[in-house]
Amino acid sequence: MAELLFREDAYLAACEATVVGVHENAVELDRTVFYPLGGGQAGDTGRIGPWRVLDTRKSGESVLHLLEPGATPQIGTKLPIEIDWERRHRLMRLHTALHLLGAVVKAPVTGGRIADDKAHLDFDIEMEKLVKDAIEEQLNQLVISGVETKPRWITDAELDARPELVKTMSVAPPRGEGRVRLLEIPGVDLQACGGTHVKNTAEIGKLAVARIRSEGKRNKRVTLTFAS
Ligand SMILES: [Zn+2]
Repeated sequence: MAELLFREDAYLAACEATVVGVHENAVELDRTVFYPLGGGQAGDTGRIGPWRVLDTRKSGESVLHLLEPGATPQIGTKLPIEIDWERRHRLMRLHTALHLLGAVVKAPVTGGRIADDKAHLDFDIEMEKLVKDAIEEQLNQLVISGVETKPRWITDAELDARPELVKTMSVAPPRGEGRVRLLEIPGVDLQACGGTHVKNTAEIGKLAVARIRSEGKRNKRVTLTFAS
């Protein structure tokens, strides 16, 4: 299984890695800075050696880096690898913004998705309780307040004892390694989450509530974008 460097340092954009598996249009590496699609967060794009990485996906325990057509990687080759950092940083900012949104809207989360230009959470709540201007103002207060985010690890057993730490946003936090990653935004949010986050809420920048829409009885969708 690849060493998942983004778990320890989300700001690591590049390193060297060795090809350990070659599939049709995809490679596995011994270590990676590429976040695979999961927990609602899009997979990273970037470069491995001379080739473009179009997307990153999980397959069982493996991380598959999907390469441009025509790429010819060889097992055992050591190559420089690099993610598209500006895109990833936008994903990190919006991902962290959804942790704030989940704290501002006090209702069960029924879904979520993070792209690099917008992100949403779905809530089980009545439409009339979702007030665009109020949500936007509270979110931006939390951004301005500049709270440091604190990743840490707990054991699977500790997580089992505290089921409230699993919110739907992190559909299934990575388990089976004996430990699970938590993200704490002190005074705001604490939950199991394997995604990538910024170090301080101020780094998110000003947010806008792009729209609030009903997607079903138990899905009231709040979509965020960066304020222009
Ligand atoms: Zn998260």
